[in-house]
Amino acid sequence: MKIAIMGAMPEEISPILEKIGSYKTISYAGNKYYEASYRGIDLVIAYSKIGKVFSTLTAATMIEHFGAQKLLFSGVAGAISPTLKVGDLIVATKLAQHDLDITAFGHPFGYVPEGAVFIEADKQMIEMSKEVAKDMGKNVQEGIIATGDQFVANEERKNWIGSTFGADALEMEGGSVAVVCNALEVPFFILRAISDAADMDASFSFDEFLQTSAKESAEFVMKMVDKLAN
Ligand code: SAH
Repeated sequence: MKIAIMGAMPEEISPILEKIGSYKTISYAGNKYYEASYRGIDLVIAYSKIGKVFSTLTAATMIEHFGAQKLLFSGVAGAISPTLKVGDLIVATKLAQHDLDITAFGHPFGYVPEGAVFIEADKQMIEMSKEVAKDMGKNVQEGIIATGDQFVANEERKNWIGSTFGADALEMEGGSVAVVCNALEVPFFILRAISDAADMDASFSFDEFLQTSAKESAEFVMKMVDKLAN
């Protein structure tokens, strides 16, 4: 089995590369991909760079070029739900693109013809994440994640995304990775640790907590990979 582990920024995958220790680096399509053998499974690891376009390219490359059969995303996000605090983990049940807007034609936000507002993550891996959370003694919330090409640092925008999509957290890659995996029929799992509250202090909070939150998320994703390897 070949599993893709993806992040958007170097900080999101460096704890994973550290844990794996030895890997092969392959340059492809303007990015670096790391291949490793880990507990009997093949891994391909990469960070995409920030946003929907780069994450689409990386997810598609991991599947189409590197042959990944499952994809796990690890990263950080801004909280919408007041129950999510910095460092908390959220598992995406489904994802939407909050900045996709052809509402002028009477469509709902996040919708284009032949698409869907929400894409559901793999139920089996979500179930597995509950076991991992229990094993680790961690409280992990499930919820809707909204994705867009914006760093949201604005209470009004955040609340709008929350009420329009019922979203609990927001970030810049999950929704596009979901589109790719759904189209290519590759089961996917999206995990985020909260780095900020998407409010006026978001950029400061992000800078302060990126590393610790990214590490939280990476540790959990590696436990998921351990379970998948068993
Ligand atoms: N510090 C970076 C920019 C980070 S952009 C730089 O200056 O280069 C934010 C990244 O973290 C994205 O990958 C996104 O997925 C996630 N994220 C965390 N908090 C977010 C928020 N409030 N709004 C949007 N994305 C957020």
